[in-house]
Parts: sequence; structure tokens; C-alpha cells
Amino acid sequence: MSGIALRRSARLVTSNSVSITHTSVPTTNHRSERDLSELSELDSEPELSPRPVKRARKATASAAANGASQLQGSSQDTLATLPVNIEPTEPTKKPRTRRKGPPPEPKPEDFMARTTNRWKVGPHVSAAGGVENAIVNAASVGANAFALFLKSQRKWTSPDMKEISISAFKARMKTFGYSASHILPHGSYLVNLGNPDEKKREQSYECFLDDLKRCEELGLHLYNFHPGSTVGVATKDESLSLIAGCINRAHKDTERVVIVLENMAGSGNVIGSTFAELGGVITQVEDKSRVGVCLDTCHMFAAGYDIRTNEGWNETMAEFERDVGLQYLRGMHLNDSKGTLGSKKDRHQNIGLGELGLATFAHVLSDPRTRDLPLILETPAYDEPGTSASRLGKEGMDVWRKEVEVLNRFGNGVHGEGEEAKMYDWTEEIREVVQAASRKHDAKGKSVKGVEAGGRKRKAGKRKRGAKDAEEEEDGGDDHCESCSEEG
Ligand SMILES: [Zn+2]
Ligand SMILES: [Zn+2]
Repeated sequence: MSGIALRRSARLVTSNSVSITHTSVPTTNHRSERDLSELSELDSEPELSPRPVKRARKATASAAANGASQLQGSSQDTLATLPVNIEPTEPTKKPRTRRKGPPPEPKPEDFMARTTNRWKVGPHVSAAGGVENAIVNAASVGANAFALFLKSQRKWTSPDMKEISISAFKARMKTFGYSASHILPHGSYLVNLGNPDEKKREQSYECFLDDLKRCEELGLHLYNFHPGSTVGVATKDESLSLIAGCINRAHKDTERVVIVLENMAGSGNVIGSTFAELGGVITQVEDKSRVGVCLDTCHMFAAGYDIRTNEGWNETMAEFERDVGLQYLRGMHLNDSKGTLGSKKDRHQNIGLGELGLATFAHVLSDPRTRDLPLILETPAYDEPGTSASRLGKEGMDVWRKEVEVLNRFGNGVHGEGEEAKMYDWTEEIREVVQAASRKHDAKGKSVKGVEAGGRKRKAGKRKRGAKDAEEEEDGGDDHCESCSEEG
């Protein structure tokens, strides 16, 4: 609020000063139109405040220095008498373009207090503008865990992380009180370690290893990725061995990061939709202390595991214990599902609004087995924050804020009495926020074009937009599991 007020008063100074100095000052209004269309993953430049305001401030200051003590109260009338005094002091001299210092470092006190229960919930947040921004985005929705991409998830190679980003990330992890064991970076969508084509697998491995090294540079312990695909050429068993081979190699090429296999929805040739397949990779991994599994609720359901009831959830977990082993559970993706049970459709829906329903998350989040794991939301956000210093952590993400809040009620043990009515009310709370955010998103119309739900900008004309793109956009952060079989 104070930021807005400040900016408004700055504009006032600008317009007053225009009349003083007769300097042509461009209007600053277009700045306020800055929106998602300017969001770029590589845009690390902080939003500069419009320079004219500074010039104007300087002019006003020098007016004051000129003994214009009558400025007190600075009414328009008083200012109007000033030009005679001002003009000679700074004739045609161009104001020095001073480099703006770094924006003030965000402080935890500026954000909502975070709940302290042992179920660590948070979304897959944007790291646009630098990995360190992910922490601010997470804090601003009250998240106790979060996921992020460590580089563009659709490119084979990306520039190294900047030193300044790495140190800012580490510093913010400390200041904001996040533990590395609750951060679950997500891998590239292009990587397919199960590809029988050696050249293509090698390319995948390089991209994969680069990500693991980024984790270690940031002091992170976990790394989540999609196991891969047979691309319709290899048998599943062959691909399982290829994946395990790459993991063994990666363990030798890195020091400590734990490689976490994600369960998949089960379309096409994709590996990992059954617990048996995940277990099949793990049994071939030599260093079992550095491999794990992340269970995605939407993928489980789409793959045929019915976790809608507490009994169903417990049976599913018993199956996981049998086929994989509970000790390997290192994280979860909490997503509702647009697809029905066994549909094999990887379509994420907001919590409570899909086929799973809110009750599913009530039993998942009161199960001690899911404590102290990163529990990551990959639901549609509709509205992501800007990367600029002035907008970072202050705008957008209302949907995630609400989802985190509601899910934390389960972790805080609030549910119990009047279960059904409560589930209904809380679902409606989420629905309301989702509807408001999606209306806002729709109203932005053209300005959002080219930006996916995950806040990622896609190069115009790079790929023809089709129905699939539209579907993908709805799915938020993690909807490309099928791409393995296409890209592989
Ligand atoms: Zn994923
Ligand atoms: Zn998914």
C-alpha cells in the first residue's frame, strides 16, 4: 500500500515540476501497464523507476536549496512563482544518469506469517529474474516448501546461474527460514534417460547432470524428474535399466544430491506410472541413499490408484511400501485431477475442484508418512508475480495463497467435526478465488497471450498453437509428462 502511495506522490511531484522547469517530461503512465507480457525468464533487470521523476525531484530539491523557503506546503500556487529562481541554477545541463542501487532486500517481516506444522506445503513457483526470486514468491503465499525450475525447462542448454543469484538464493534461504529438504527442484521436460538412442540419451544426460550440478551449487538436496519413455522402441525393462544406468553415472558425477523419480499418469510409452516400474529403476541403483520417489496425486489417480478415500489411500501406500519402499518417499505433488480414475490423463486441477476432491487431501495431509516432505502444488495459478523489484512478492498468486492456506488447515489438525460441510465450504473458498483469478486472467486478454499458466513466455511463432497448447496452459507447472515420448 505504502509503495503505491509513494509512487502516486512521486507522480504528483513530476507534474508539478513540469510546470516549473518547462522540461518536457514523458508521462509515466505506460509503466503501470507493465504486465505479464513483459515477463521473461531471463529478465533479471529490476524495474527502474521512471527517470523523469528523479530529475523532477532534483529540480525541486535545488529549488529548495535556492532559499525557496516559501516552498513549505508546496502548493501549486507557490510553485508557480518559482521558475525565475530555478531556471538559472541548472541551465541546459543534463542531469547525471546515476546508476540505481540494488532494490531493497525483501524481509520476512514484510510477508504473511507461515504456519509451523510438519506438513510442508507450497507451490511450484516462478524463478523468473533469478532463482533467488523463487524464495520471495514462495514466502508471499505462506509456503513452507516450494519447487522451481533451475533453468528453462524446454531448452537443452541454458546460461550458467549468475554468482550473484546463487549467493542471493543461499542468503534468502537462511533469512526466510527454508530448509533444503523442503525444496524440490523440477527437471527439464526434454530429458529422457530411458531413450534407447545413445546419442539422444547422452544429450539428455548432459542436461540432467547440469541441473544436478545447479542443485549442488545452490545447496539443495533433492532433484525431481520424469523417469523417461521407451519412445516406442525399447521395452519397458530396457528403459528402466537405461534410466538406472544414468542415475548411477550421475551419482558419480555429483556429490550429494538425491535423485527423485516422479510417478507418471501413464500415457503412451512413459515410464513410471506404476509403483513397480519406479521400484524397477531403484533396485538397479547402486547408491540407494541418493534415490527417491515423488508421488503426484493427480498422476496416481490417472494411473488408476484410487486415493479418494482414506482406505484407498492406505491401500495405495501399502502397495507403494511393497513395490518401492516408504523410505524412498521424498516428496509429493499435490494436484487435483481433471481426468477420471485410470484415465491416464495428466491434467492438473485446482485443489478440491477436480475428480479427487478436497477430502483426498484431508487424509493425505493427516498421514504421518507425508510429514516433513516437500508437498508441492502444481495447480493452475492464473496470475503469477512480476519479476520486477516493485512487484516481486506483492502481486498475483492468490489461488496458491488460498490453496496453501486451506491445505495447512489439515496439517494443523483443524478438520474432524462436521467433515462434509467443512469440505464443501472450504472447496467453495478455493473455487471463489480461482474464479476471480481466472476472470482477471481472461480480462487481460491479449496481454497474457504467449504466456502460459506457469508464467513462462513462449516465443511467438516458434510453434503453432493448437488445442494441445491450450490444454497445457491450463495445467500449470507440470503438464508435459507426455512430451517425453514426443521429444525422445
Ligand atoms: Zn513433473
Ligand atoms: Zn502432471
